[in-house]
Amino acid sequence: MRIAVIGAGHAGVEAAAAAAAAGADEVSLYSAESSLPYFRPRLVAMGFGQASPDSIRLHQADWYAGRRIALRLNTPARRLKLEPLAVVTDAGEEPADAVIVACGATPMRPPVPGLDGPRVHVLWNMADAAALHAALHPDGHLVILGGGILGIEAALRAIEAHQSVTIVERLDHLMPAQFGPRAAALLLEQLTARGIRIHTGRTLTRVESRTDPKSLGLLLDDGTQLACDYMLLSAGARPALDLAQVSALHTRRGIVVAPTLQASAARVFAAGDVAELPFATRCAVREAAAQGHLAGTNAVAAARGQPGAIYKTVLLPLTYKAQGFEVNAVGLADGPGCETQVLETRQANAFRALILQNGVLVGVQMIGTREEFDDYAAKVQSAQSR
Ligand SMILES: Cc1cc2nc3c(=O)[nH]c(=O)nc-3n(C[C@H](O)[C@H](O)[C@H](O)COP(=O)(O)OP(=O)(O)OC[C@H]3O[C@@H](n4cnc5c(N)ncnc54)[C@H](O)[C@@H]3O)c2cc1C
Repeated sequence: MRIAVIGAGHAGVEAAAAAAAAGADEVSLYSAESSLPYFRPRLVAMGFGQASPDSIRLHQADWYAGRRIALRLNTPARRLKLEPLAVVTDAGEEPADAVIVACGATPMRPPVPGLDGPRVHVLWNMADAAALHAALHPDGHLVILGGGILGIEAALRAIEAHQSVTIVERLDHLMPAQFGPRAAALLLEQLTARGIRIHTGRTLTRVESRTDPKSLGLLLDDGTQLACDYMLLSAGARPALDLAQVSALHTRRGIVVAPTLQASAARVFAAGDVAELPFATRCAVREAAAQGHLAGTNAVAAARGQPGAIYKTVLLPLTYKAQGFEVNAVGLADGPGCETQVLETRQANAFRALILQNGVLVGVQMIGTREEFDDYAAKVQSAQSR
């Protein structure tokens, strides 16, 4: 039995290992990248010179060989043939008994004139991180577009790498997906105290590339002009759907999957950032790995003509702690009928709040502390799973 896994990120590597453990004779793991699979969140550290490529590998090469996983680096899958099932690469067509699509996501590039020019970076794969690191020079000025957790982590790391940093966020406050305005006001204060300049509620309207000296001129919608040496886009990501669409799999925002993670074709599964599953936490390593594991097991079952197990989503908290800066959040940041109940905290310069929707606990927000966070998070998770 031959199982094909497309994409060697967190979902794909887990899927390949699970398929091998479930008894597949041969597992092919196709990767569009040239490096051994790595822990993607550590790219931020790598981009600012605080981690080496070797230190962020998920496994060494012999780990794959020892599990009968044929890791095919530099081998993007171009298309799936559905009947009979086969993966099409530049080298030709390779038959498979079941396939797992784990192509991940790609960063968004807002349609702003000049944003596709030089000195504008993204940070999504190892080549991006290497390019950012190569571009940095001492005391450079970096503008980060996007005030979500990735933008904030990049800002903190850039400060550590002796850059001066400005964040531009389109919405009215930082981390809008996790925090309401009161928590975000404290976030703003803490980041500003570290020297990070922040423009919230501002849209970037134009980027001009200058040659002498090499720099960028930015124009915001209120007329503010900024000059910087380079930019980092951190404006969200969307599922990488090219392969699914060209293969006629059913897609909406992502690849639509059944609770067994089966896509719209027989013996084809999807897992991780590319899959669209109600209630799943998007863009999270643990979620991608858990989906990959189940998809790998279910692909082997499907190849044997057996039914698959059901994927159970768990609402995952977002937790980030570094250099004395800490945020913890889970569930809704706001919504219809929501009220914020601020709790006392033992920590100075900290914030704790519960989000109640019609009296039911639906979210927890903490900055600078995690007092009782796990207990409250468990209550939010159990309310969501009911
Ligand atoms: C900079 C950064 C920091 C992050 N920090 C955190 C964090 O702190 N905590 C957290 O939980 N999550 C974090 N995330 C999100 C997390 O990394 C993703 O949710 C997770 O990697 C998703 O796993 P995946 O396997 O679905 O996709 P990915 O890890 O993106 O892997 C997909 C792989 O598929 C490959 N691929 C795509 N198309 C093809 C094709 N046709 N053929 C072959 N290969 C293909 C891609 O090149 C890629 O290597 C971060 C993400 C980034 C980019």
